[in-house]
Amino acid sequence: MSGRHHSGTDLSQCKPDVATGIRRMELDRVMTERPTIVRTIAAVREALRDAPRPIGLVPTMGALHEGHLALLARARADCATVVMSLFVNPTQFTGGEDLAAYPRDEARDAALARDAGVDLLFAPSSEEMYPEGFATTIVVGGLSEPLEGAWRGPQHFHGVATVVAKLLNIVGAQVAYFGQKDAQQALVIRRLVRDLDIPTTIEVCPTVRERDGLARSSRNAYLSDAERRRAVGLSSALRSAASAIAAGERDSATAAATACRELARHEIEPEYLALVDPETLVPVAHLDAPVLIAVAARVGRARLIDNLIATPGE
Ligand code: AMP
Repeated sequence: MSGRHHSGTDLSQCKPDVATGIRRMELDRVMTERPTIVRTIAAVREALRDAPRPIGLVPTMGALHEGHLALLARARADCATVVMSLFVNPTQFTGGEDLAAYPRDEARDAALARDAGVDLLFAPSSEEMYPEGFATTIVVGGLSEPLEGAWRGPQHFHGVATVVAKLLNIVGAQVAYFGQKDAQQALVIRRLVRDLDIPTTIEVCPTVRERDGLARSSRNAYLSDAERRRAVGLSSALRSAASAIAAGERDSATAAATACRELARHEIEPEYLALVDPETLVPVAHLDAPVLIAVAARVGRARLIDNLIATPGE
């Protein structure tokens, strides 16, 4: 691997030997095959052994959108080598969730990854990640339980923590990039890395939104046109509560009621709408410091989540 360059091949070594055409072939290979797609842990280690540092990792489940591309752009700007993982992790899907239906299009994702400057795409099978006899689960206590943990089951974050720990170990990245869109996930991962002394810096990047405010998500693909119009209610509810808080509202329940009215206006009944401490996720009653407002709701077939950090005004 050679980071910002187009592959590990050193073109200066390729003599312009017209008789063999090797240089042309190498060039073609270099220009068309980036990123290298590898499917085994051994191949990742081999490919990255001499790769330029820092190595940046962007874990994804594919179905790439602008949110993922922002993480990749940030990794490309910061790191000499960029690795993207593409793995729809079965252990984070809890009872009855959309694992089988989850959108998958590896060729499209690989093309987008290439355009984003990814050097190495790690796309393992479930068997590679969880071979026969796999028996270890990482439980990040406390943070895994409220909000998403309460609705999807804490096993969701046990699955996330376990797969992210594996990916960080496999890639040996100096930096890994996650989205604020999944605020609780980012907290769980920060705690995991801290508690297990994993030598990777966790960068959390801002939520990328559609023009009308809807947070980009692979699950937006499930929305019909009418549902798509209603779905904007999640972000507008968060904004309405944040505006009230910025304007001086100090009572959490009143701010939550403001958000719920906005949800109702879009015919959305939330699974939860919570105002919590942005680090501990403990519910906040009186608003005198930045607060994480988090929402989850079903809109049609799609289960959507979003969040915003609101800062109390004077
Ligand atoms: P996923 O493929 O849904 O597991 O997401 C992979 C990474 O992209 C996670 O770190 C997500 O938090 C992040 N991500 C997903 N949607 C967005 C978004 N709209 N803005 C920023 N990051 C996002």
